[in-house]
Amino acid sequence: MISSKLKQLSVGLKAGRVTLKYPFEPRPTPPGFRGKVTINAERCTGCGGCATVCPARLIKVTDISPEWRIIRRHLERCIHCGRCAEACQERAVEMSQEFEEATPDKHDLLIEQKIYMGTCKRCGRCYTPFSVLDRHMTVGFRKEEEIDGI
Ligand code: SF4
Ligand code: SF4
Repeated sequence: MISSKLKQLSVGLKAGRVTLKYPFEPRPTPPGFRGKVTINAERCTGCGGCATVCPARLIKVTDISPEWRIIRRHLERCIHCGRCAEACQERAVEMSQEFEEATPDKHDLLIEQKIYMGTCKRCGRCYTPFSVLDRHMTVGFRKEEEIDGI
């Protein structure tokens, strides 16, 4: 009995410390790790391609007017498959190395974007503008009568 305990002790001591001092010493992530989804809003054109391929259907695209589109990502449902990052032609989605997503408030995991879109002259629906210049179009410009009043 005592000898088996001594044997266990010697095996344990020989192994050394095999744990990390988490959370002070987080475990490094392996190559290709798919952590929290991050969005580069400056690259996103609002095409909605990521919403089409997301198996968890957590990306909601809403056109609130002919010019404005809102994209909401409810990441509390994310399964970290990485399909949105693969599908995004603009490379606006990245699977980061961040894995500490636990929160008592799911709104902490909501990403919301409001994107100015082009408007189809025939059907009036939003579409993705061709270039950055197209995207600027008329938004924020003042009307002539406002300028005259200055
Ligand atoms: S696929 Fe990329 S560019 Fe298109 S809406 Fe998603 S993040 Fe934006
Ligand atoms: S990683 Fe997968 S589940 Fe998460 S937002 Fe992207 S496509 Fe959806």
